[in-house]
Amino acid sequence: MTSYGFSTRAIHVGQDPEPITGAVTVPVFQTSTFAQDAVGKHKGYEYARTGNPTRTALESAFASMEGAAFGVDFASGLAAEDAILRMLEPGDHVVMGNDAYGGTFRLISKVFGRAGIGWSASDLTNPSDLAENWPENTKLVWVETPTNPLLTVVDIEAVAEVAHANGAMLVVDNTFATPYLQQPLSHGADIVVHSTTKYLGGHSDTVGGFVATNDGEVDSHLRFIQNAVGAVRGPWDVYLTLRGAKTLAVRMDRHNDNAAAVVDLLSGHSAVSTVLYPGLESHPGHAAAKKQMSGFGGMVSFRVLGGRDAAIRIIEAAELFILAESLGAVESLIEHPGAMTHLSAEGSPLEVPDDLVRLSVGIEDVSDLLADLEHALGAA
Ligand SMILES: *Cc1c(COP(=O)(O)O)cnc(C)c1O
Repeated sequence: MTSYGFSTRAIHVGQDPEPITGAVTVPVFQTSTFAQDAVGKHKGYEYARTGNPTRTALESAFASMEGAAFGVDFASGLAAEDAILRMLEPGDHVVMGNDAYGGTFRLISKVFGRAGIGWSASDLTNPSDLAENWPENTKLVWVETPTNPLLTVVDIEAVAEVAHANGAMLVVDNTFATPYLQQPLSHGADIVVHSTTKYLGGHSDTVGGFVATNDGEVDSHLRFIQNAVGAVRGPWDVYLTLRGAKTLAVRMDRHNDNAAAVVDLLSGHSAVSTVLYPGLESHPGHAAAKKQMSGFGGMVSFRVLGGRDAAIRIIEAAELFILAESLGAVESLIEHPGAMTHLSAEGSPLEVPDDLVRLSVGIEDVSDLLADLEHALGAA
């Protein structure tokens, strides 16, 4: 199966027709336990916290999409991050980007910080800085690219080199790019983490997380932690995420196209001061994005003239773009990071400008999206 293309693997890996009935779609194995043939002799499944066939199907498919040998499905993106961070021991240190996702910052600083794990937040767009100021006992470097909500791009290969030279592992949060546009393991990352709540599920109907790796020891750790702690999803949610991901490639192609058209409109608009999008040649991370991504994705942020009030007027005037947190699904969303999603990063070194608007550009008809934005920008 590994020789097949991306979409073929998304649709087929781990998803052979069910052997008893021939069902073409992976069934929702709604069961907590599995009958055993004899004491200690089972068919690969004993208890659904430890493993469930619907979950196994998703794990095989998603690992294949990331080009990974192993993958584990988790109850949420943050549950997946938590399981990775539990590899650390008191006294260890983790370096994250200075604009890490708010929930990641909160988990590392407020949960693991209390458990004796040191942390720091650096500008990872400048890997030589990290090399020169390497914090002692760093075991993990945590990269997000592109970042939320500023769409900063980090050169995965360059940071991997610094991390590995110092004996640390590199984790990449690939939520914004998705495995269709970027496969961090092929650029030197050791572990990839996703919030499958976003593009992989793609329909705003489930919360989930996923970790991919080629490192068998990391995989064993993750499975041990998941079984010991219990951060699993029920099979219905797993089924919906797997179903959503079958169309990831076609959705991402449309997200890319629609976002490019939105960026065009914003770039020429008198109410807009700056557009943040890795696909723009003027974006500081454009070269790195071109090197490691096959498309620039559906997330667009922009700053407006007229400050916070103008930003909020625009956000509230939009009709088709729904005012909501989250991202990555078929419908377009608009939000104010300063007052909404960035609040979980309280205490972070990152100041999000209050004239910033974030869009998750969906896959609706682009003419409708542009008309809605044109109308909303008029309210500035
Ligand atoms: C949403 C998100 C997370 C957290 O995932 P949940 O599924 O909400 O727990 C982590 N990283 C990024 C980049 C995200 O957008």
